[in-house]
Amino acid sequence: MAEASRRFAAAGVEEPRRDARLLVCRLLGGGPELLLGHPDRVLDATEAARIETAVVRRAAREPVSRILGQREFWSLSFTLNSETLDPRPDSETLVEAVLAALADRKAPLRLLDLGSGSGCLLLALLSELPQASGVGIDISAAALLIAEENARQLNLQDRAVFRERSWDGGLVGDDGFWDVIVSNPPYIATAEIAGLAPEVAGYDPPAALDGGPDGLAAYRRLIPAAAAVLAPEGLVALEIGHGQAEAVEGLLKAAGLLPQRRAADLSGNERCLLAAKSLPEARIGPDFAAKESRG
Ligand code: GLN
Repeated sequence: MAEASRRFAAAGVEEPRRDARLLVCRLLGGGPELLLGHPDRVLDATEAARIETAVVRRAAREPVSRILGQREFWSLSFTLNSETLDPRPDSETLVEAVLAALADRKAPLRLLDLGSGSGCLLLALLSELPQASGVGIDISAAALLIAEENARQLNLQDRAVFRERSWDGGLVGDDGFWDVIVSNPPYIATAEIAGLAPEVAGYDPPAALDGGPDGLAAYRRLIPAAAAVLAPEGLVALEIGHGQAEAVEGLLKAAGLLPQRRAADLSGNERCLLAAKSLPEARIGPDFAAKESRG
């Protein structure tokens, strides 16, 4: 373990000791405390080979979660593959913000997740909303398979469906509208991707990161599409990147949605925007009418 930690440190891994402990213990079939009582445990050849392979991968800056093929999100375990973004603790901000905004968590809400990846947003929400059901859409068939597998592992398969669709293709639900629409779209400006940590730039699927020249390309497509299928009392929650709040709120307003709240992640960065459908009454006030008549 000490040798793994040394090799990780030499490769520039941020927390070499933690990662060495995690990998070795998990690959030996236990939790992170596995070796505490047995520091001198001798490895058999198979174990040693499995660990060596993992150490080489981590030293090449592949994230621990991808090597293990599992990542914890919202205290639930998610399976990953190369087509799914590695769920980040930052994205739990969105789950928290949606739950806080809901008046009744027992309501039979209908949820839509645009670009569902591993399914982490939709499935974390469904785990907290016992009567809700939802659809996740993604353009990656491989990601959809993983999301379905995650739904089964979490015993949410009866309330979660995953479909191959683009942002703006066929989002209309059975009765046309969704109560909650969430998305963690790609939002990194193309030119910035190469400068991200090697764990991100080298291993997250480019399609899950690349938000076009200014990082906003996905929002430009998905926001009008979401606005068109949001229930009158519905809620939209979007993850955003650093410094994107103003611009994305502008797109929300342009689509007739009212920005309601910005939620910050644990580092204090604005990470999630909530918006609701603008109610027709809100536009009928004297002020609005006056402005309208002035053109
Ligand atoms: N949160 C990821 C990052 O900053 C980006 C994910 C995304 O583009 N949605 O690395």
